Amino acid sequence: MPELPEVETFKRYLDSTSLHQRIANVDVQDSYVLKRVSARELTRRLKGRRFEKSYRHGKHLFVRASDDPPSQTLRRTSLWLRLHFGMTGSLDYLKDDEVAPKTARVIFRFANSCRLAFDDQRKFGEVELIEDVDEFLRTRGLGPDALQISFSQFKAILGKHRGAVKAILLNQRLIGGIGNLYADEILFRARMHPATEAARLRDRDLMRLFRATHYVLVKAIALKTDFNRLPKSWLLMRRGKTGRCPRCGRALKSATIGGRTSWFCVHCQKRI
Ligand SMILES: [Zn+2]
Repeated sequence: MPELPEVETFKRYLDSTSLHQRIANVDVQDSYVLKRVSARELTRRLKGRRFEKSYRHGKHLFVRASDDPPSQTLRRTSLWLRLHFGMTGSLDYLKDDEVAPKTARVIFRFANSCRLAFDDQRKFGEVELIEDVDEFLRTRGLGPDALQISFSQFKAILGKHRGAVKAILLNQRLIGGIGNLYADEILFRARMHPATEAARLRDRDLMRLFRATHYVLVKAIALKTDFNRLPKSWLLMRRGKTGRCPRCGRALKSATIGGRTSWFCVHCQKRI
């Protein structure tokens, strides 16, 4: 499931392939992923414009479309394409004769005949047009982005909410971008049991967790989220019944915490 590092990697991919080209057409192969917009409306509003820049918040990617051709009579509003990658979403930039994947749901066709495909096998992804990113984030009640957050904000959020520390890290209304896999990695790095009550954390624990959050997300982005290149000291590739702790070699344990399966080492990750 794409989390903050994956979405940031998609953002950089989109920025390096798809900006500043005129959108010649939009092919909607499956309108199931469209939210509050019809295939016809999506095409009508994007055709002739260009993607100008993108912005990521948590697991959402927003792509600014250029203004309409100047008009005396119409109010000029900004237009953003919002992409959420659900469980299996990704982006594919296709050159002239490259065949789009069968699971491409929406294909943006550029004037230079290249295409950007929103691919999503399981169709939990979302494609929408919005006019105001801040308003969207407010309406959805999304918390600050996990990479933009300051330590004092982080401390305030964890101090204010009861429950397991992992459940708080996963709650998108509190902190945006962290999902199940990276939450386990962050807690492993911070040597903290995922079921630790957030209220029990002292300042130095919070600082350790904050630093681990930053390190894990930044490192995963730097590796373009290629799991085969993750450091050997990481937990992520060892999740599962036969998995052993990369630090002490003991068998990993699992438990459902915050509604999700967590993997951790009871020896290295203590409850505080
Ligand atoms: Zn261990």
